[in-house]
Amino acid sequence: MRILLANDDGIFAPGLRVLERAARTLSDDVWIVAPETEQSAASHSLTLHQPLRLRRLSARRYAVNGTPTDCVYLALNQLLADRPPDLVLSGVNRGSNIGEDVTYSGTIAAAMEATLLGVPAIAFSQVFEDGHPLKWKTAEAWVPRVVSKLTKQGWPKHVLINANIPDVLPKAVKGIQVTSQSLDEVGDLCVERVDPRGRTYFWVGMARAETQPGRPGTDLHAVNQGYVSVTPLHLDLTHRATLTKLRKALA
Ligand code: MN
Repeated sequence: MRILLANDDGIFAPGLRVLERAARTLSDDVWIVAPETEQSAASHSLTLHQPLRLRRLSARRYAVNGTPTDCVYLALNQLLADRPPDLVLSGVNRGSNIGEDVTYSGTIAAAMEATLLGVPAIAFSQVFEDGHPLKWKTAEAWVPRVVSKLTKQGWPKHVLINANIPDVLPKAVKGIQVTSQSLDEVGDLCVERVDPRGRTYFWVGMARAETQPGRPGTDLHAVNQGYVSVTPLHLDLTHRATLTKLRKALA
């Protein structure tokens, strides 16, 4: 199995090393193409107005001066065009990608790009609390199990998998729960400050409200209960029920 790794925290992020170690337990044909600098919350953006460089750092390891989407795009269309990977893994992101995070996340976008280009993909994120150390050992222990179970089962074209590892020690993980995406539960705050010249500025995406328990069956609830959350996401964002209703109403 050929595996491609990408992320949004950048080529030197500890979570990418964790993902690499996990991937090497499953394959000895692991390729890494990751952004040169942190691209968290880059979403599914593609660099259109600047030249992109694919910089080789060592064997099968490349840095790109662009977004997570650029990385997967270049890997699949250029670097590995002759023999595409069987699987793309993204992450392991430093912090959860739950609920509303899904559309902001560069980690998930890398998996979306792979899915668009026809390669099955899983995004991994390690939940943690600000100011506390990340439990990378939990991701390292659970990523191979999640990948093995999912690849054995398979999933349809145009679907990607969003996996979140709970903020507990490896042995305290209760198992895997297949969940739906939560909404209106995570939330965050916008912090207003004043600079030394007396002008107002802002920090967005602060103080995430993950202390909420979440509704049972959702990603948020699963990780709060100590489960690995596995959410299948569909690239087709159409809401079928509203489509039917609007077709009738607007006919
Ligand atoms: Mn990130």
